[in-house]
Amino acid sequence: MLAYFLPLTKYPYRGEMVDCPVCGSAAHERILNLDRKIKRLPTHLCNACGLFFTNPMPTDEELSRYYANVYRAEYQLAFLRPRKTHKNKKQREALRRAERLSNAVDIAAPLRTLDFGCGSGEFVRRLAALGHDAHGFEPGEAYSAHAAENTEAGGVRTGSWRDMPYPAGSFDVITCLHVLEHLNAPVDALARMREWLAPDGVLYLEVPNMQGYQLKGFERFHFAHVLGFSRDTLMLAAEKAGFGLLKEDTPTSLFLVRDDDARAAPFVYDLAATAERNRTDYSEAVSPAAYVDHHLKRIGRMIRTELRQGR
Ligand SMILES: [Zn+2]
Repeated sequence: MLAYFLPLTKYPYRGEMVDCPVCGSAAHERILNLDRKIKRLPTHLCNACGLFFTNPMPTDEELSRYYANVYRAEYQLAFLRPRKTHKNKKQREALRRAERLSNAVDIAAPLRTLDFGCGSGEFVRRLAALGHDAHGFEPGEAYSAHAAENTEAGGVRTGSWRDMPYPAGSFDVITCLHVLEHLNAPVDALARMREWLAPDGVLYLEVPNMQGYQLKGFERFHFAHVLGFSRDTLMLAAEKAGFGLLKEDTPTSLFLVRDDDARAAPFVYDLAATAERNRTDYSEAVSPAAYVDHHLKRIGRMIRTELRQGR
């Protein structure tokens, strides 16, 4: 367990060397070897499409062990020190997500919905409250147990996406929000979502944008995020899994439909330019002084926020 936290050491996994998990290219190389905990984490950049990925890549079994143990420990710590701000944040986030979903889907309709990787279940609960037949699943037992306890409607399951038994065409809407970057087989996972989606269904897919940060460097990497997407690599993954574009909400927040849906628009991207930009941005050393300055400002903002909330 401690091995996940001690700086300058490797993470306790063997993994296996892989080619690009999105485009399959063998043209990739190491771009960084540190993460935001100042631990050793080898990250490769694909020269063909611009995807960042952990390499060696943790296996399914290693990822399962991590989610069963480490995520649970972090979750329990959160409960030993219950933070009102954290719970409020999750609830506000669920409201905001429902609001954004309503830009592409009539959420007042009695929809069958699935939250792929539902965490502690706030969004499933929100959709159930809207009258949806709302489902979700989550690999971490503590999270999914919490989600199940607090969700009246629908079902929350525990386990990996590979084990979920939903029949084809089960859902009008699937949401996958800040989950895909945790998976070692993103195109297969997206293809499974496509299979579970009704022919006229909508997938709401969102990941962190590696181009969306002011400071780019080792701080943007950590063990849980085995993939680092930007707009074009996310679109490529969706296209390979058989999706077309319904609406681009932000560069890495997309509404997608099956590619045989009449509403499906083609993706327009420039992978060579993406790879080049990612290489340039993440190769430039960000000076330690810039990081210290950035974090002092961030801590200052956190303290002011806490004071305002009377803690
Ligand atoms: Zn690639």
